[in-house]
Amino acid sequence: MARLQDKWPISPRKRLYKQQRLGIQTLKAVRSRYFGGPGPLYLKPKTLLEAVSVLASSGGQILAGGTDFYPALGERLPPPDVVDISSVREMRGISFEPDWIRIGGLTTWTDILRTPLPKCFDAVKSAAREIGSIQIQNRGTVAGNLCNASPAADGVPPFLVLDAQVELTSATETRRIPLDQFITGNRKTARKPGELLTSVLVPRTADVAPSTFLKLGARRYLVISISMVAVVLQADNHKRIAQARIAVGSCSAVARRLTDLEKHLLGLPATAGISQLVTADHLSPLSPIDDVRATASYRRDASLTLVRRALETCARSL
Ligand SMILES: Cc1cc2nc3c(=O)[nH]c(=O)nc-3n(C[C@H](O)[C@H](O)[C@H](O)COP(=O)(O)OP(=O)(O)OC[C@H]3O[C@@H](n4cnc5c(N)ncnc54)[C@H](O)[C@@H]3O)c2cc1C
Repeated sequence: MARLQDKWPISPRKRLYKQQRLGIQTLKAVRSRYFGGPGPLYLKPKTLLEAVSVLASSGGQILAGGTDFYPALGERLPPPDVVDISSVREMRGISFEPDWIRIGGLTTWTDILRTPLPKCFDAVKSAAREIGSIQIQNRGTVAGNLCNASPAADGVPPFLVLDAQVELTSATETRRIPLDQFITGNRKTARKPGELLTSVLVPRTADVAPSTFLKLGARRYLVISISMVAVVLQADNHKRIAQARIAVGSCSAVARRLTDLEKHLLGLPATAGISQLVTADHLSPLSPIDDVRATASYRRDASLTLVRRALETCARSL
C-alpha cells in the first residue's frame, strides 16, 4: 500500500526541518530529565539547510568565529542554546559571478587577504589587515563583523563604499538588502530571528576603481578605531571624477556615507590637491561622541584629515 508520504511527498527541506525539530525536542526532553531543567544546548550543523532548520526550530544564538561572541559575554555564561555555524562550508569563500562578487558570510579576514580581488577591494583588504591581530583575522568572519554592528566595525565602511548588499537566508526565504539598510543602529540590524547572513554581494560596477581605507587608533596595532575612512574613486576619460564614494566609521552609531561631499566632487579634476575641496561642513552627517578613546571634536578633526588623505591617495592612483 502506498504510503501517504509517497503520494504527497514533502520537500527535502521540510523533511529535514521536521527531523531536526524531532531531534531537538528529544534533546530538550533528555536534558530536562537528566539535568533537572533546561541545560545548555550546543548545536553544530554541517550544512546551510541544517543550520537554518536548527535555527527555525530551536532558535539560539549564532556563533561563527566567536571573536565578538565570547568577549561580549564577559563573566556571564553563554546563552542556553548556541548554534555554531563554523562548519557550514557552503558559507565560506569568494566566488566571481558576472554581475557580483559573492563573499560567503563565514569567509574570514585572512581568506579575504589571500584571495586575488579587483582593485576596488583594496580598501576591504586594508581593513582586513587592520582587524585585531593575525589570530583574530584567522577566526573572525565578515558576517560576524557586520552582524555584530559595532559602530567601530572596520569592515563596514569599505563594504559601504562598494555599495554592498547582504543576503539573508532562513528556513523559508532568501532575501537581499543593501548594507546601509541592514545595519540600523549601534548593535542593531534588520536581521530577523532565524536568519543567517549567508553572503555579502558586491556589484561589479567599479572593479578597476582605486580604493583606500585609513584607520586611526590610539596605537598602530590591535586597536579599536577612533575613526576610519574608506574611499572609492572613479574617473572619466578626461580624468574628472565620475563617481566618489566616501564612508566614515566610528563617528556615529552606524558608519555613514558622506553623500553631499560625494556629489560636490562630481565632475572635478581628479588630481593632486583635490583634498583641499573638503571642508568641515562636509562631515556634518557625522555625530561623534566623547568616550574613553577620544573626544567628539578630536574625532571630527581626525576624520577630516583621514578623508582628505584617502581622497589624495585614490586621486593619485587614477
Ligand atoms: C582582540 C580582538 C581584537 C579585535 N579587533 C578588531 C578590529 O580591529 N576591528 C574590528 O572591526 N573588529 C575587531 N574585533 C572584533 C571581531 O574580531 C570582528 O568583528 C570579527 O569579524 C567578528 O567575526 P566572528 O566570526 O568572530 O563573529 P562572532 O563573534 O562569532 O559573532 C558576532 C555576532 O554576529 C552574529 N553572527 C555571526 N555570524 C553570523 C551570520 N552568518 N549570520 C547572522 N549572525 C551572525 C553572532 O550571533 C554574534 O552576535 C576584535 C576582536 C578581538 C577579540
